[in-house]
Amino acid sequence: MRRSDEKIVVQPPRQREVGDRVQLVFPVAGFEQPELCFEVDRAIAHFLSDRGDAALAALLIPAMKSGRDLVIRAPLSERLYRSAQIDLPHVLGLVDPTLLPIRVAAETTGPAPPNGAAAVLTGLSCGVDSFATCQDYLLDPKVPPSLRITHFLFNDVGSHGREGSNQSRRLFNARLERSRPVAALLHRPLIRVASNMGAFYTGSFQSTHTLRNSAVVLALQGGARYYLYSASFEWSALQAKASYDIAFTDPAILPLLSTETLECLSAGADLSRRDKIERIADLSLAQEWLDVCTRSLPNCSVCWKCARVLLTLELLGKAEAFTRVFDLAKYRAARAGILAYVVATRNQNPNNADILDLMRSAGYRWTLAERLRAGAAVLAFAANRRLPSGAMQRLYHRATAYCSAPATQRPV
Ligand SMILES: [Zn+2]
Repeated sequence: MRRSDEKIVVQPPRQREVGDRVQLVFPVAGFEQPELCFEVDRAIAHFLSDRGDAALAALLIPAMKSGRDLVIRAPLSERLYRSAQIDLPHVLGLVDPTLLPIRVAAETTGPAPPNGAAAVLTGLSCGVDSFATCQDYLLDPKVPPSLRITHFLFNDVGSHGREGSNQSRRLFNARLERSRPVAALLHRPLIRVASNMGAFYTGSFQSTHTLRNSAVVLALQGGARYYLYSASFEWSALQAKASYDIAFTDPAILPLLSTETLECLSAGADLSRRDKIERIADLSLAQEWLDVCTRSLPNCSVCWKCARVLLTLELLGKAEAFTRVFDLAKYRAARAGILAYVVATRNQNPNNADILDLMRSAGYRWTLAERLRAGAAVLAFAANRRLPSGAMQRLYHRATAYCSAPATQRPV
């Protein structure tokens, strides 16, 4: 895609009532989709902001992808506008080199006026990162009152599947219903936010999720003071270079998405995945509600994500406490495959290197069959990255049982 002289123009938002829900709607010119919309329950409508900051965060990557300047005709935070002119597009371009440099223009900027907002928001996915954030920013008695989680968010911004499809709607609702009782047990309201933002994106969710989720909180900055975004990786993995997952860059990007009244913070980057699992291993909520699966609800116990968590729990001696959310027999039957996957992708994913460290320190004894499968996976993964071939892909798939296309840069 080349830079274009056409512009993307976003008009000031208006609110629209749809039954017991309220939509914040930005008219957009320059995309097929004529509106950018955020929808919440009426009870939370007072959080909705009439500023243009949410539209900027939501549409910056799509605008850069199409090489067109972005014009926001609603008031923008001076701080966010400055970030959008200098650092933010630069960092995003490092993460995804296919993004083109563009100009962001605003008709009105200025410091967002103090609004007395005090809510502390975080997503509640019931995954490992999410429960670790609950542990550190809600259950820990030492967390300062101003930073204690007050509300949970449950966003539909593209993580549940293709925009507008029945399948993604079903998955969103199923996951939402699973999060509701957990929010209730933690005595915090769960804010459900639906958005059509995904319709503006052509790239993967994994490479864009930080901006999509932050845009939601910017739409709610009439009530939100802090946004705690659960880290996927620890500080030592921080990088600003081409990657399949923008999470490697989260701790650098989140401050750039903050305004004068809303601070976006990375939560949990001080902990490795192993540390987080260890931290939540004795949490009864996690033992009953942990949801990490990439395939199904409840957890399938054999996909790479389920199996990786189970492997860590097993090495920590805690797997038996999680029989309400995992099928240990199914996992054990598939364990050799996950071991092969972890070894083959150890240089691409620091969480997998961390598991290998844990195996060494726990004195894990490899069987001959496990060693042979791991060796085959390493060979196939490396060979296929150098010169993709069907034979190596099939070998990798047979060794790991997880992925038939290891030619991608994604370590799955
Ligand atoms: Zn699974």
